[in-house]
Amino acid sequence: MTPDEFRTFGYAAIDWVAHFLEHTRDYPVIPQVEPGSLIDALPKQGPEAPEPFDQILEDFEREIVPRSTHWNHPRFLGYFANSAPPEGIIAEMLATALNPNAMLWKSSPAATELEQVTLAWLRQWMGLSDFWFGQILDTASTSTFHAIVAARVRKGQTSSATGGYTLYASKHAHSSIEKGALAAGISRENVRLIDVDEQFCMRVDLLQAAIVEDLASGKVPFCVIPTVGTTSVASIDPVREVIVLARSHNMWVHVDCAYGGSTAVDPRYQPLLDGVDDADSLVVNPHKWLFVPMDLSVLYCRNKEWLRDAFSLVPEYLRTDENARALNFNEYGLPLGRRFRSLKLWFTMRAYGREKLAALIHEQIESAKDFAVRVAAHADYEVCAPVHFSLVVFRHKSTDAFNQSLLDAVNATGEVLLSPNVLRGQKVIRLAIGNFQTNRADLDAVWELILATAKRLQA
Ligand code: PLP
Repeated sequence: MTPDEFRTFGYAAIDWVAHFLEHTRDYPVIPQVEPGSLIDALPKQGPEAPEPFDQILEDFEREIVPRSTHWNHPRFLGYFANSAPPEGIIAEMLATALNPNAMLWKSSPAATELEQVTLAWLRQWMGLSDFWFGQILDTASTSTFHAIVAARVRKGQTSSATGGYTLYASKHAHSSIEKGALAAGISRENVRLIDVDEQFCMRVDLLQAAIVEDLASGKVPFCVIPTVGTTSVASIDPVREVIVLARSHNMWVHVDCAYGGSTAVDPRYQPLLDGVDDADSLVVNPHKWLFVPMDLSVLYCRNKEWLRDAFSLVPEYLRTDENARALNFNEYGLPLGRRFRSLKLWFTMRAYGREKLAALIHEQIESAKDFAVRVAAHADYEVCAPVHFSLVVFRHKSTDAFNQSLLDAVNATGEVLLSPNVLRGQKVIRLAIGNFQTNRADLDAVWELILATAKRLQA
């Protein structure tokens, strides 16, 4: 592609993005397509000869966009949102143009140091102490896996034979914890999922009982992972109490605040993260609720040497001069090659500023609470969990089958995406706010759509 062609097609792509962001609501949130439809639509073999670029762009619009689930849609209210505001989109384009590999300081001084700068800013915004060492990874699953490996090594287990090493989380913990434990060599029966109380929070008395029982049977309790903002109900485990208990058994505490952690940029919500500053590690995902495009997860560790003990392995071809200020991030984690993810975090933090991000998150929490009030006030519906953050879990007070039909019918309109769950044996519906463009009018429309759809199904 010549520089002039790059300008032509680059401007065309930007025009497309600008139009898309302005008119995202005109697109169905989820496409009505059958599995395999794109595979059937595209050639079975890749092209031998170059294809015209305008044709490729056209095919993007014709074949890819209509088959996309629009995570960037303001009415994408299923799962937890990942949204991409224009600032982050521009940053991703520029990061790709530089295309550094931030494995060593020397291989990318700017990317390495910007990661340190942005994660120090984020740490301050979240009200965390200065000692936290941050690194950017792709997802919370990877961040948690790193924490589990570091915890295992710190407990003394460096071989792959992890014997009775045992890890604890709540029954509402994200599946990435169990998966990370399995990948770290912990056997399935040594991942203990502790029951929760009425508010869906991990019961510390049961955690204690499980640890005592495991010690008595010769197991090695080494790590506990409370969550602040669980995926199913956004409940908050009692982090401080968990830490007190864990300390008395020389266990590592990793806090999964992948979703809830971002709220700490607003000091009003820092009490929800009470105790987190005393943990050994934590994960927070700016790609979930700090309006940074996929993918950007932050792992903070109390002592960077604990990660280095677990992950440093330097072959001769990667050896560089020692310099206390030259950090080689690859020594603190599994990936050698590392994208320039901090650029989009830097752009977002600067373009919004802490106050605006905090105000946006606060408004989303308030609108979730107002939505829950509206649901609770309706005779046919009930709210099934406390609303601490921006997740509302509710159900129609009828059968599971009706709730499933309601969810399917509402989602089939393409006007919104809500997600299902089962809570205390009953089907429930999750509505999670987190897109940078979601507003009160969207939520009004979604509630009207739910009511109208329920009426139609009952007719
Ligand atoms: N932890 C929590 C609380 C989550 O809600 C999720 C995903 O929604 C994860 C971890 C996993 O996140 P990721 O997709 O970044 O691995």
